Amino acid sequence: MMLPVDFIDEMRQELGAEAEELFLALDTPPVTSIRLNDKRDELSFPCDIDEVPWHVDGYYLSERPQFTLDPLMHAGCYYVQEASSMFLQQALDQYVPADSIVLDLCAAPGGKSTLISQHLGQEGLLVSNEVNRQRLFILSENLQKWGNGNAVVTHNQPADFGTKCVNLFDCMLVDAPCSGEGMMRKDEEARAQWSLKNVQMCAERQRSILMDAWDCLKPGGVLIYSTCTFNQEENENNVQWMMECLGATVLPLDVDESWDIVEGNPGYHFYPHRTKGEGFYICALRKNEEVFAPFKIKDAKSHSTANNQNYVQIATSWLANPEDWAIRQSDRFLTAYAMRHKQLIDILSERLTCITIGFGLGEERGKSIAPQHSLALSKALRRGAFPELELSLEQALAYLRTETVFLTERLPLGQHLLTYQGVPLGFAKNVGNRLNNHYPNEWRIRNL
Ligand code: SAM
Repeated sequence: MMLPVDFIDEMRQELGAEAEELFLALDTPPVTSIRLNDKRDELSFPCDIDEVPWHVDGYYLSERPQFTLDPLMHAGCYYVQEASSMFLQQALDQYVPADSIVLDLCAAPGGKSTLISQHLGQEGLLVSNEVNRQRLFILSENLQKWGNGNAVVTHNQPADFGTKCVNLFDCMLVDAPCSGEGMMRKDEEARAQWSLKNVQMCAERQRSILMDAWDCLKPGGVLIYSTCTFNQEENENNVQWMMECLGATVLPLDVDESWDIVEGNPGYHFYPHRTKGEGFYICALRKNEEVFAPFKIKDAKSHSTANNQNYVQIATSWLANPEDWAIRQSDRFLTAYAMRHKQLIDILSERLTCITIGFGLGEERGKSIAPQHSLALSKALRRGAFPELELSLEQALAYLRTETVFLTERLPLGQHLLTYQGVPLGFAKNVGNRLNNHYPNEWRIRNL
């Protein structure tokens, strides 16, 4: 499909003669890149691999493998993420310490949330929000697979944050829904849906998202605004509006000249004819300091812990550092979440619509407790808590398709942690000659 005529005019106005290079680049195949999780630091792709210069864990692959058939992707060893957007790391490194409370307001499917989760490690807390119900579950899945347990996934409107979490967040990422010009080479749909009217509509929506959520950012806190589009209306003009109407100051980001990132006025543009990645725009701002009443956490009602202490004892024995985790029970399910943010998470769970908190630890089943799938993917799992069974590629794929895995050797009865290349994939229960597959049905590999 041809590029829209109005888009061509708009880019010629913004970039002059250089726009022709952009149009050519938009007709070349997209670049494939991944970002590694620290679950495993080896790369084993049957193609050339190159480093993404602005992210230590980012790699370009010279070919696009069939990721769905790689059990390590399902185990959360890496995230297939467009390279330009990994530049978010530079803003975090410069302005967001690891012990920050961060809101990712428009988070699904979770590429940037997994990056933030990695940056915060066990010190900070991530609230990862998505307004679209259909996209919530993939967000939750991706964060569970990433395995840090430091995120709360919420399903709220931006205004809920602006009214219920006033002055709470040290940092807010608004990776805004946009007209998607930067996706025009990946996605035919992005070309088909583009229009000047849509650009205008997106710019207005971005401003209302920012305005509605603004009060949840602490004065002195950092807003990171990004889009995957090129035009000034959704980028520079909106940043200008934030400076004038919301009270914010632009923060410079360190950029190496060799990366060929274009400094906007203000902000930073990634153009596919210059930088190896898709179109992207990012700008960091600091909310102006003022005297403010800090978000209170001392009034939190302590959330009741689990009913059956015996089960809690069993479940916490599955954790490498049980003292780091608070446990709560909802219905039959035990959840583990960061002890150091317990009070805050308890308050958030009263005020917001929380879809997942930390990670699922266990589930009461009859007269016993069984581990939940997300425990297998969690970095908090104590290796050795369950007998382990290493699977071949074929067995691993059968497991990920939720098929029965037949055993060729005698193993003890009960729960087993299944691994592939030493990395946990999930649990299965040995009932004699076969394993009862406990892989979540909604995550299973289909049609391959
Ligand atoms: N940050 C994500 C990532 O890195 O994987 C991509 C986010 S995508 C560019 C924008 C998201 O904003 C979509 O998931 C969309 O559902 C959500 N969205 C759409 N309208 C919104 C609104 N009015 N308020 C907040 N979020 C909205």
